[in-house]
Amino acid sequence: HAKRSGGNAAQFFEQSMNQSAFERLVLENELREAVRDDQLVVFYQPKVRMEDGVVEGAEALVRWNHPTAGLLSPGAFIAAAEESGLIVEIGDWVMRAACRQAADWARNGLAVPMAVNVSAMQFERESFADSVLEILAETGLDPRLLEIELTESIAMKDPERVIEQVQPLRDRGVSFAIDDFGTGHSSLSYLTRMPFDVFKIDQSFVRGVAEDHHARIVVETILAMAKALKLKTVAEGVETAEQLEILRAEGATLAQGYLFSRPTPADEFEAFARNGNSREIAASARLAS
Ligand code: C2E
Ligand code: MG
Ligand code: MG
Ligand code: MG
Repeated sequence: HAKRSGGNAAQFFEQSMNQSAFERLVLENELREAVRDDQLVVFYQPKVRMEDGVVEGAEALVRWNHPTAGLLSPGAFIAAAEESGLIVEIGDWVMRAACRQAADWARNGLAVPMAVNVSAMQFERESFADSVLEILAETGLDPRLLEIELTESIAMKDPERVIEQVQPLRDRGVSFAIDDFGTGHSSLSYLTRMPFDVFKIDQSFVRGVAEDHHARIVVETILAMAKALKLKTVAEGVETAEQLEILRAEGATLAQGYLFSRPTPADEFEAFARNGNSREIAASARLAS
């Protein structure tokens, strides 16, 4: 959701998703300029290990540094980017920027896997795997340090096609996560056949895990399934120590959320990651033992 720092301008952009075709056109033109004039930036959010808080991953999240509206979150412009097709160009740009950053960190002793979100239009392109391999070669990032996040709906569309797109990259060591897991309609038999490595539990379930019996059951079920399939799990949107405690007890692998850090510019992520254990995890691990 867009930060409102830009006042009316930011609200205009936020609301324009639901407004007139004219406003959408204005937004698309501005977005085209944004790509051309380097107004996009990538923020990074840490994923931390449940046991000890060590940073074991980063998720790249795009932001738009709009000249008048200020810093905008994807909620304000991703839909327009998808409708206009600009998402492909934006997605490639984010992939390149995030891989370059991860390669740079790795060369400087901070080898954290970098997760990049990929949209349907980007993933379904014939040249998807080649373009990722090209970016890996160009940036020098070890493919084992790249994780691609696909939403459950993309991952479920057409099994043969998904395997075709995923396999050449997986063969080189790239891993694949299903994002917002639990919100789609994955069938059990489908999941057991597909080449995925990570389930990211949607934040709507994480948010409810402490109070809502149904959310708790969904979380337990996803974790049991992941365990049986020998997949890793990331709990998204962890905001409280209580949620963290439950998720750890239930056996989730990694946690990501405001409890540890918001998405931040690269230098802040780096400081956080080099700082070692997250205080929140360390404190609650002491309580638990
Ligand atoms: P996502 O991939 O599920 O990313 C997680 C979102 O949850 C991020 O929102 C993150 O800031 C937010 N989040 C993390 N921890 C917490 C928490 O504790 N509480 C709450 N309330 N939120 C939390 P963000 O950055 O606004 O991104 C929203 C969505 O936009 C992403 O959801 C992803 O689907 C999409 N997106 C972001 N960057 C890209 C990109 O480069 N390419 C594509 N195709 N989509 C992107
Ligand atoms: Mg994601
Ligand atoms: Mg998600
Ligand atoms: Mg999402």
